[in-house]
Amino acid sequence: MPKRDEFSEKTKQLLARRAGFRYSICQCPTVGPHSEPGQSVYLGEACHICEAALNGPRPKQSLAPAERTAASNGIHLCKVHARLIDVHTAAYTAERLMEIKSSQEQRISTMVVGSGATSATYSYLVNSPLLAQIALCEAAK
Ligand SMILES: [Zn+2]
Repeated sequence: MPKRDEFSEKTKQLLARRAGFRYSICQCPTVGPHSEPGQSVYLGEACHICEAALNGPRPKQSLAPAERTAASNGIHLCKVHARLIDVHTAAYTAERLMEIKSSQEQRISTMVVGSGATSATYSYLVNSPLLAQIALCEAAK
C-alpha cells in the first residue's frame, strides 16, 4: 500500500476552525456536547483535496509531501461526504472541492464579521482590545 501523507493534528484543527466547525458540504456542526459534562464530541474529517497517496483520488503527482499535507490541500467534511468525494470523483473534482471550501470559508467569515466586512474591518476586529481580552480569558482556562 502506498505511503499516505497525513495531515498533522494542528492542520486538522486549522481546517475545522476555518470551516467554523461545520461540515463544508452538509453544514452540520462537527462539535457538540458529550454525555459526560467534562467532554465534547468531535466528528470532523480532514480530507485531502488532491491525493494523499500515489494513485489516490484526484491525483496530482507534482505535489511535494509538504504541499500534500498543507491546509491548502485540505477540506473539513463529515464521514459520509469524506467517503463520497473519494468514490464519486467525477462529481467531486479538485476544482469543485476548492470551490466548496472557499464558499464555506466565505460563509463563515460573513457569519463572524458580517457581509459588508472588508479585510480592514476584519483586521480591526481581530486586533481589538475586546478580542485581546477574550483571548487572554481563553488562555487562562
Ligand atoms: Zn457531509
